[in-house]
Amino acid sequence: MPRYDYRCRACGSTFELSRPMSASSDPAPCPEGHDDTVKLLSTVAMTGSAAAPRTSGGGGGGCCGGGCCG
Ligand SMILES: [Zn+2]
Repeated sequence: MPRYDYRCRACGSTFELSRPMSASSDPAPCPEGHDDTVKLLSTVAMTGSAAAPRTSGGGGGGCCGGGCCG
């Protein structure tokens, strides 16, 4: 079961809860009992690949219009 970090905006304390992913966005009251909490980005590493294929949007070469083709 993944653990999620939360921060209470009322008292400023951070805490973590173990809860299923389906309940990750449910409200989580802090140990002090405040309900005004926000979920922090935990240690889930977002591995994004920067190797996006490049698509050159060309099309319709203007060669034969200027007489360069003979
Ligand atoms: Zn609190």
